[in-house]
Amino acid sequence: MQMDKPTRWSLDVLFPSPDGPEIKKALAELDRMVAKAEKSRRLLSPRISGAAFLGLVKQFEEIRSLARRIAAFAELHFCENTQDQAAQTLLANTEQHMAEIENRLLFFSTWWKALPAAPARRLLAGSGPYRYYLEQIRRMAPHTLSEPEEKVINLKNATGSRALSTLYQAITNRYMFDLEVDGARKQFSRAELTVFTRSPDASVREAAYRSLYSVYSREGPILGQIYSTLVRDWRSENVSLRKFSSPVAVRNLANDLPDKVVRLLLEVCRANAPVFQQYFELKARTLGLPKLRRYDIYAPIAPSEKQYGFGRAWELVRRSFEEFDPAFATLAERVVADRRLDAEVRPGKRDGAFCMSVLPSLTPWVLTNYQGRAYDLATLAHELGHAVHALLAEDLPLFTYDASLPLAETASTFAEMLLVESLLKEETDQAVRRDLLFRQVDDAYATIMRQAFFALFEVEAHDAVGKGASVEDLCARYWGNLQAQFGNSVELTEEFRWEWAAIPHFYEMPFYVYAYAFGQLLVLALFHQYQAEGSAFLPRFTRILSAGGSASPAAILKRAGIHIEKAEFWQGGFDLLGQRISQLG
Ligand SMILES: [Zn+2]
Repeated sequence: MQMDKPTRWSLDVLFPSPDGPEIKKALAELDRMVAKAEKSRRLLSPRISGAAFLGLVKQFEEIRSLARRIAAFAELHFCENTQDQAAQTLLANTEQHMAEIENRLLFFSTWWKALPAAPARRLLAGSGPYRYYLEQIRRMAPHTLSEPEEKVINLKNATGSRALSTLYQAITNRYMFDLEVDGARKQFSRAELTVFTRSPDASVREAAYRSLYSVYSREGPILGQIYSTLVRDWRSENVSLRKFSSPVAVRNLANDLPDKVVRLLLEVCRANAPVFQQYFELKARTLGLPKLRRYDIYAPIAPSEKQYGFGRAWELVRRSFEEFDPAFATLAERVVADRRLDAEVRPGKRDGAFCMSVLPSLTPWVLTNYQGRAYDLATLAHELGHAVHALLAEDLPLFTYDASLPLAETASTFAEMLLVESLLKEETDQAVRRDLLFRQVDDAYATIMRQAFFALFEVEAHDAVGKGASVEDLCARYWGNLQAQFGNSVELTEEFRWEWAAIPHFYEMPFYVYAYAFGQLLVLALFHQYQAEGSAFLPRFTRILSAGGSASPAAILKRAGIHIEKAEFWQGGFDLLGQRISQLG
């Protein structure tokens, strides 16, 4: 495939147009299907036959498939131009419609969760590829309250915790940050400001961080109040009412990871803080600094960046996949051949990047904003890795098609590592090589150690707030967390006490962040195995990916000989990183 310009995707296989009769027809069909499903409610009893039960599950699957097709079209069409008012309206209406359908279908999972163990066992035994999906719903049963209680919580959350977290977004999204650039003071959004924290100019990096935290320390007391309230709400609902053993156990159950595995992961990360401390000392020497300041963590070591045209970028990514496994390259090519890749930059288009896998029978859609930097190249490999993951799982039913959170980044992160290996093989310019290698460790820091210490802070903060800690106490604890993380390797300044108040995940999805550390350490270990075993590794890796979300992460990985309940497994990832860092010195 020859491509000299970033491509645009086509949504034609979903719907030919946003305002044609097809979408209206599909919505009417969806309503008919839901009405039919509602009628089958009378079949639900402990004596339902296995065949009737399976028929119902399949009926629900068909409804969800059509719903996902409609919702995906509205979302993807909106991403093409977020300023298009018709697209905004279509998206809002579709979301509303989907929420209503969810509510109308809620009766099935409510019944299934409450069903006694004996009939549930009988039905699960005959549920074939739907088994894990059905088990997952029942895992929530011990923490489910009565129907009226659940209704009250649902209602109250909409105006309570969810409203507060939306308010946090609304408040912080309005923040603008002052920065002097080329002699003129300008105002920047946070996303724009972040680019300056990676500037080759040390004074620009410092100024960007100072600007960021001048706002967050001023606003910190009020943001901290929002945070404390959310944390108290999380505890009242989940620990007091739903009887989870701890605040983090809620997320662990959703991820289907045992509490002790998550504890082990975080402890191994904490114990390995010196790995990155040594890296920061090495980076200081490389940059010619006596000591790295917190401002310099992401400093590039090369003064300028190499640029890659889109055609060249696609060829590099494709080739890195092919060198690993020609089947991977073929799947990535399908994304381009089926016109699912939107890589061009245009006004109004959603920024960032994602891969959306809609249905097992459809090649996924990939969005990036390609601008020619090494970062854009890595993003392209990352998102195409997601697409390969989804394509390998295409034989699964919709309900177990999506990989669960701890495994969701396996193919994408692996693809980024393949790209770097492939680039290093052909790059002869020493400066570019070193830049690539340092960037790789910078990213590993940001995904593993930074996120693990975030999660350690969350565990501590939820406990402390439960015992009445003030916002000032949280700052003091965060400061302690940073000192444990950096030791003497990095110069910290006061404003970073407020960093926790600036992390949206803490407000919106408590304990979400440890999944990043999980995923990246897993991929390091897998990559290590690949380097040791060569092509013998391929079938095992393919088996992990093609399992999608059809079993728990522990079960999927165990089949590939990986034991996440063992400390040695996690330590292996750090050992590999330690080796790579020592090669940089
Ligand atoms: Zn990803």
